[in-house]
Amino acid sequence: MATIIINQDNFYHNLNQIALKTGSKEKIAIVLKDNAYGHGLVQMAHLASDFGIVHAVVRNRAEAATIRELFRTILVLGDRAVADEVCSFALNSLDDIRQAQQGAQVELKVDTGMHRNGIAMAEIGKALEMIEEAGLKLVGVMTHFRAADEMGSEYFWQKKQFEEVKAAVKSAGFEHVRFHSHNSAAILRTHTFDEDLVRVGIGAYGYSELPDTFDKTVLKPVMRLTAKRVATRKLKPGQRIGYGGDFTAPKEMTVSTYDLGYGDGWCRGNTFAPFITAEGLPVLGRVSMDFIALESDKEEVCIFDDAQNAAKQLGTISYEVMTALSKEIERVVV
Ligand SMILES: *Cc1c(COP(=O)(O)O)cnc(C)c1O
Repeated sequence: MATIIINQDNFYHNLNQIALKTGSKEKIAIVLKDNAYGHGLVQMAHLASDFGIVHAVVRNRAEAATIRELFRTILVLGDRAVADEVCSFALNSLDDIRQAQQGAQVELKVDTGMHRNGIAMAEIGKALEMIEEAGLKLVGVMTHFRAADEMGSEYFWQKKQFEEVKAAVKSAGFEHVRFHSHNSAAILRTHTFDEDLVRVGIGAYGYSELPDTFDKTVLKPVMRLTAKRVATRKLKPGQRIGYGGDFTAPKEMTVSTYDLGYGDGWCRGNTFAPFITAEGLPVLGRVSMDFIALESDKEEVCIFDDAQNAAKQLGTISYEVMTALSKEIERVVV
């Protein structure tokens, strides 16, 4: 099977860059949802913890259970709130408050303009009352930016909305509440960070979608995808490769199959605008479930070492390329 190589130095480089923005490692919550953006939940949790990160963010309780010994707090974004010493739970709606177990630690998510999840600004008073009545422990209040990586004033408008939220929570008498709104794009463009925590995902894994004018922080890709040779043959001019025979050899060629396909979460793409690997080899013909063909006889090839570049070729974003990669692919830390 293909292999995902995790570059520890690059991961630590990125975390250091982010720590320069926050002023401390302790203010970084590493986002490990969706198998750590495809990098491998357990591997990345250990690396982050060894680096000195004490807060993590995951999607559900199953992910949290796998890594709970490694972090001081774990924020669970999308699961029912239960009483737990390590985990806190994002409340995305008033219904989430109704369903929460008494004694649970909760973090209220407020919708300041993204209109995806969270409680409306007008419902904050009601939500805070319900949290008290239900016997929940409010440990955090958060929001999420919808356009931190774009030019324009929206980011500033949402920031201002969140300042109002903070004031409302404080004046309702809640103490020991951590406030957080920044994702990677927001922390990278900020020069005056003054919150308790940042929730950093994509930046830690090495990517920024920000235009250079916003920020010149250099981040380094953490993931590299390689594949191993399965079989090699010599083709004569006119011989065709794979399902449908979409690729016809224009000359004599040495072609090998490599052990990566759409069954591993690799994008099938467009045969007629083929993906070009990090080493400049175009994929020949259709991607199969478990194989691709390349003009090479190397034992191992690098498919990509920059997911953002790979994503551009495939018409998507780095997040999708990485999270789509199967959990079955071995992750190796170097
Ligand atoms: C995924 C997620 C993040 C991380 O976003 P990046 O852009 O990857 O840094 C932060 N906060 C919430 C609520 C998320 O769902």
